[in-house]
Amino acid sequence: MQLAFAPELKAFREEAADWLNSQLNGPFKAIRSQTNQVDNVEERRAWEAALGAARWSVIGWPEQWGGRNASIAQQIIFAEEYARAKGPPRAGHLGVELMGPTLIAMGNDDQKQRFLPDIAGGKAIWCQGYSEPGAGSDLANVKTKARLEGDRYIIDGQKIWTSMGTIADWCFVVARTEPGSVGGKGLSFLMVPMDQPGVDARPIRQMTGEAEFAEVFFDGAEALAIDRIGNEGDGWRVAMALLGFERGVSTLAQQMHFRNELDEVIAIARRNGKANDPIIRQKIAQAHAGLKIMRYNGLRMLSDGEGGADLSGAAYTYKLYWSQWHRDLGELAMDVLGQEGEIGASEERFDGLPNMYLMSRSDTIYAGTDQIQRNIISERGLGMPREPRGK
Ligand SMILES: Cc1cc2nc3c(=O)[nH]c(=O)nc-3n(C[C@H](O)[C@H](O)[C@H](O)COP(=O)(O)OP(=O)(O)OC[C@H]3O[C@@H](n4cnc5c(N)ncnc54)[C@H](O)[C@@H]3O)c2cc1C
Repeated sequence: MQLAFAPELKAFREEAADWLNSQLNGPFKAIRSQTNQVDNVEERRAWEAALGAARWSVIGWPEQWGGRNASIAQQIIFAEEYARAKGPPRAGHLGVELMGPTLIAMGNDDQKQRFLPDIAGGKAIWCQGYSEPGAGSDLANVKTKARLEGDRYIIDGQKIWTSMGTIADWCFVVARTEPGSVGGKGLSFLMVPMDQPGVDARPIRQMTGEAEFAEVFFDGAEALAIDRIGNEGDGWRVAMALLGFERGVSTLAQQMHFRNELDEVIAIARRNGKANDPIIRQKIAQAHAGLKIMRYNGLRMLSDGEGGADLSGAAYTYKLYWSQWHRDLGELAMDVLGQEGEIGASEERFDGLPNMYLMSRSDTIYAGTDQIQRNIISERGLGMPREPRGK
């Protein structure tokens, strides 16, 4: 059995690699290898625009909306080459991977025409306004309210952990539009401009020293009624459909980033002699094997998707597996670095592998915690009884 991409995809891979390498060794050299999501905002916006202009930003989308109708295999190949060329995290990723696909699937024609070109062209950065202080895993407990006045909604409430909240142009917000409703009922999905007096995004400093996410306060903020996706009260369905994109293809190709990180750990272990330590050697071998398993599982998901079958079978286990693997890699990196790993790049922040170690602690939290992933595997993957709610 050969687990690999079809040979005719070689030319596509070369075209992508050539373009990425010419850009990231040329005009965008300064942001190559950058890991932080909110540093160098202007360069990051320019990079999004360059990807858009060359039609590499949203390759899986239909051509009509700036994409290339790329197959899932091509999307994975592009993402692999992106990581190989050491492209920075995409400032536009929430628009490109979540908001855009949701608009294509559930938006009306007017919304598609007004929003998709700016996402595809790298002109609009989006953030995700789901979590609140009392609504994380239990997202249906959202308390942020929106009331319709004339042609617009007036929004009051608070979101938290909003990645890129301080730099985003737009936020997709789940808000309660039916007073007194509980759970998933009575919610609506609104697209809200961030640059307005009623929105206050305050940065939250992380243990890396950076502030990539924010708490976002809505105090009489406005969203046009025509910028609601789906019917009023139907926001839960839209919000869940959007998460389906998050748990699908978009997480597949990060393995190349992981490979880069593991290679760096191995290079340091060779240099500082830790590679001679049998326990470190064993952990490196385990990390290598784990990455292979992740790749084969990724290819399994890929072939499920190409066959038109439900991606979910293999996909359910994917987040749990990669997040735990990556957390272990962070710990291995610190074992290999030793005391050197405890020193920040400056007094204020950690970069490189220490940054990766600290950030990896969040991998088992965002996009569904480990415990929630296990609930999903047991309930949806294995058909076990649902856990009792409200206890
Ligand atoms: C780096 C990072 C970026 C993020 N970016 C965003 C963003 O851009 N937009 C956004 O909206 N949110 C974002 N989040 C928030 C993220 O979605 C939430 O942190 C996550 O959903 C968990 O919610 P919580 O923090 O409220 O924890 P809680 O839901 O309070 O969970 C606390 C603990 O209880 C466990 N638990 C809760 N319910 C159950 C259950 N039913 N069964 C078993 N165990 C359970 C959890 O697993 C966890 O261990 C981000 C988080 C991080 C760490």
